[in-house]
Amino acid sequence: MLVNRLTIIGAGPAGIMAAVAAAEKGKKVLILEKNKAIGQKLLISGAGRCNLTNDIPVGQLFENYHNGDFLRNAFAQFSNQGLMQFFEDNGLKLVVERGQRVFPASQSAQDVVNFFRNVLQNLRVQLWFRNRVMKVEKQEDGIFRILSKKAEIFSKSVILASGGKSYPRTGSTGDGYRIAKQLGHTIIKPVPVLCGINLKEEWIKQWQGISLKNVSIRAVRGEQILAEEFGEAVFTHSGISGPAVLDLSRHLAGIKNYGGIKILIDFKPALDIITLETRLISEFKKNPSKALKNIMRNLLPRNIIDEFLLAGGLSGEIKGNQITVSQRHILIFLLKKFQFTFDSLRGFDEAIVTRGGVNVKEVNPKTMESRIVPGLFFAGEILDVDGKTGGFNLQSAFSTGFVAGVNA
Ligand SMILES: Cc1cc2nc3c(=O)[nH]c(=O)nc-3n(C[C@H](O)[C@H](O)[C@H](O)COP(=O)(O)OP(=O)(O)OC[C@H]3O[C@@H](n4cnc5c(N)ncnc54)[C@H](O)[C@@H]3O)c2cc1C
Repeated sequence: MLVNRLTIIGAGPAGIMAAVAAAEKGKKVLILEKNKAIGQKLLISGAGRCNLTNDIPVGQLFENYHNGDFLRNAFAQFSNQGLMQFFEDNGLKLVVERGQRVFPASQSAQDVVNFFRNVLQNLRVQLWFRNRVMKVEKQEDGIFRILSKKAEIFSKSVILASGGKSYPRTGSTGDGYRIAKQLGHTIIKPVPVLCGINLKEEWIKQWQGISLKNVSIRAVRGEQILAEEFGEAVFTHSGISGPAVLDLSRHLAGIKNYGGIKILIDFKPALDIITLETRLISEFKKNPSKALKNIMRNLLPRNIIDEFLLAGGLSGEIKGNQITVSQRHILIFLLKKFQFTFDSLRGFDEAIVTRGGVNVKEVNPKTMESRIVPGLFFAGEILDVDGKTGGFNLQSAFSTGFVAGVNA
């Protein structure tokens, strides 16, 4: 039998930061982790570069989240600036890139994991790997009884930081939802977000791997605009993904009926229709004897042009000086509103985060303590909060982890 003051379940960014904050306050900390090492998801985050946070003004952080109001207090206690200071103070150099995204200067998520391994070691945080927690009970004497694969552990307080359900191969398989439910918490139905979109068009395979920059992507049903995002996208074997699409998926999560949804791409969002028409007229004037398929290379990625023109019933062989007004209008329509049919969102296997989880109404936002079970705390993606791409999900994991660690 093992008795500990604070036990943390899960060694992802939330659990790690909770351990750091608690140990820095002199608490004795044990982390139980089912994997054989810390931070398995952290290791693949940001495509192996680890987008740690976002350097936007602190006061605007919460605006980038589902249930962002719940996070305001945590950000006031440990903000993006606080997190960056923490890294720099402990020797991890950072760099700020496009979109205010913050990465380790070495561009290596492995360096971030190594950094945390050293910090935990220096603070003498005890780690118990390959030790999956099955159940947590609160005894009548107020002590928690934690049943894990390797032992029965007793603890005065517990932080549940076991993550969501997405990318289950990293260890986040939704165990924490079951544990929280058994302890009396409500679990908001988990759904995958920050994921790609499957499209109905079979031919989309031909565009696989083609990336688009500075496009606007809309999800519409009839005249209603359901969501719109701007930025980068990439076509996949089954549809479309990339940062703008991932953010778009957050607005589509939880919609009960996906029938009739269309995905519209505006390839030239910076140009209004009149400016675009002027540009086309000028291209056709400059290239009177060039084939349309070649002229369009000045406006679109080369490998999408055949299918693009086909969608408008236009021949790629017409010459610049043969294009009629109505053909020009078709081109404008296709450039501004190229249409696909939404099929479905990709699933948990590929989703960057999970929406849903522990109902935030049942958690004190100032401490991350359960309002139902005193001594039980939550941190990270297990909570029903999720952010946009750009470092926001790691920031909320670190902030809620910090607050839970200080208060547990
Ligand atoms: C491919 C990918 C790229 C991403 N890139 C970024 C990015 O660049 N920037 C960003 O902000 N966010 C990114 N995210 C999201 C971010 O990684 C997560 O939101 C964050 O890791 C959540 O932290 P967490 O500690 O709450 O949970 P997790 O990181 O999921 O950690 C939970 C831990 O708990 C353990 N665990 C689960 N159940 C048990 C149990 N029963 N017993 C013991 N241990 C258990 C798991 O093994 C895991 O180690 C990315 C996600 C993915 C999938």
